[in-house]
Parts: sequence; structure tokens; C-alpha cells
Amino acid sequence: MSPRPDLGPKPQLGYTQSRIERVAERRSDEAALRAFADDPRARAYVIGGERIVMKQGSPVSDPQFTLAQAFALEGATETVFLGLVDGAARFGFGVTPATAEALKTRDGFHVSDLRSIAVQGLVTPDHLPPIAQAKAVLHWHARHRFCPNCGAATQPVDGGWRRDCPQCKAQHFPRTDPVVIMLAVDGDRCLLGRSPRFMPTMWSCLAGFVEPGESIEEAVRRETWEEAGVATGRVSYYRSQPWPFPMSLMFGCFAEAITDDIVVDRTELEDARWFSRDEVIAMLQRRHPQGLTAPPPVAIAYHIIRAWLEDEISFD
Ligand SMILES: [Zn+2]
Repeated sequence: MSPRPDLGPKPQLGYTQSRIERVAERRSDEAALRAFADDPRARAYVIGGERIVMKQGSPVSDPQFTLAQAFALEGATETVFLGLVDGAARFGFGVTPATAEALKTRDGFHVSDLRSIAVQGLVTPDHLPPIAQAKAVLHWHARHRFCPNCGAATQPVDGGWRRDCPQCKAQHFPRTDPVVIMLAVDGDRCLLGRSPRFMPTMWSCLAGFVEPGESIEEAVRRETWEEAGVATGRVSYYRSQPWPFPMSLMFGCFAEAITDDIVVDRTELEDARWFSRDEVIAMLQRRHPQGLTAPPPVAIAYHIIRAWLEDEISFD
């Protein structure tokens, strides 16, 4: 095995290490929510679908608005109580995508998508987890305006953490979709793939949704088999990441390959192949001879690949 590479200090994983204290027990207390909203220290993240509205700044923009500033915008949809930071409330404030789009050209505003914000560092990193939280819950509201049980219009309650149906009395809760993202390894080689959606040079871990009735380990083995035709045996869990595109939770895993022939599922992937350790190190260090790259540090795939290079994995 090659010596452990020096990849520099470990960057923070995007959308994690939230400073928000969710205080879920306060969500049903309407007087408390009103007091939180009336506190002059309260702030709102303004989101219109995939677009995040910020106050233009340099070198970073400010994604927080006072509630008065947020309510002065047109096209308000739902408001979600995210929780408290040092006792001050944080809200997710939904506006229509058309409102967010229109603010792009208004002086003093900066509107961008969350991927660009995270990868380009357009806000300070402590804002990424609450924006991710707000974006995911607001997306859920936008898609659950009607009861899936009886079709009646539903109403938000509990600070935006539930929708109730007045007709059939069903209660609906925000959900998050589990996704496995895994690095299959075979000694000194690992399996990476390319989605047609990726930048032309980028290779990453394989990934896919966990299906109902399936364990994380089973999903890892099934997806690796379906996408690349590689059979895997032991699976170990590494770490997780909320992924608000639109509302997933990524389970980062390693899988031990037990076959090495690759059969690429071209409906899912553009390509998949084995990479040597040295080649992957060059990709992370951005000095690969063909210019191939690994995902950016905001993504869990970077951390999974790096943990393998730094010998942090085991299958005990
Ligand atoms: Zn209903």
C-alpha cells in the first residue's frame, strides 16, 4: 500500500454542524412562536423553490432578513420555524419562485441556487445548514398543499412542521428521502462513476435511493450491482449528510467488492471504472494528467473518497 498522502486539513462537510437548536417542543406553542417572531433578533432565510434570496455583499452575501424585511417582499408562501441560535429565532420564509426570480435584478439583492452558494462560498459556512433545513421543509410544503388521503386542502400547523387535513383529519409530516452513496473498494482500487449531469471532468461515488423494505446495506449492494455490475459483500457505514435537493439524507458507506468486471447501466451512468489510489490522490490534488477531478469538499463523496485514501475505513 502507498504511504498515506498529505491532503491538507480536512474541510468541513457542507450542510452539517448546524448551530440551530430546533426546540421541537415549542413548535405547538403559538404564544411562544409569536414572541420569537416579535423579537428584534429574529431572522428569516428567504427561499423561492431552488432559489435563495440574499442581501448583496462582498466578499460574502448575507442570507438573513428581518421578519419585517421578509414580509415586505411579495409572493410569500409558508413560514417555517427553524429553531433558535443563541436564543434568537430563525425562520425559513417561502416566496414564490417567480418572486425570487424577479429579485435577481433588484438593487441590493443577490439570488442564487444553493449548490453554487455552497461550492463558491457565497455565504459564511454557518448559514448552510439552516438554509438546507429551510429549503427542504419549504419544498415539502409546496408539494403537500393537498391531502394525499382525500384530496382536501391541508393547513400548516406546529410552526410549519406538520400539515393537517380538515376533511379526513389526517396529519402529514415533513419527510426526508434516504439515499446511499458508496465507494466500492477492491484493495488498492476504488470504483467511481460519471453521471451525465456531472461537470465533464468529474468522477464520483455511485449513489441511489433506498427503496421501501430495504436496509442501507442491501441498498448499497443493489445499487452497486445495478449501476456497475459489481457484486459487493461487506458494507460499512461512514457518515451522513443532509442533501436538500430536494430533501434527501445521504448515507455514506464503503463496500467491499467481490467481483471486478464492470457492466455500466447507461441509463443511469455515462461511465464507471476502477481507479488506482495514486490516480484518485492526483484527482483530489487537482493534478491528474487528464484533468480528471473528484467532487468538491462540500459533498460527502469527497469525504468518503478521502477517508479511503487516508485508511480510515474498516470492515470489522
Ligand atoms: Zn384528508
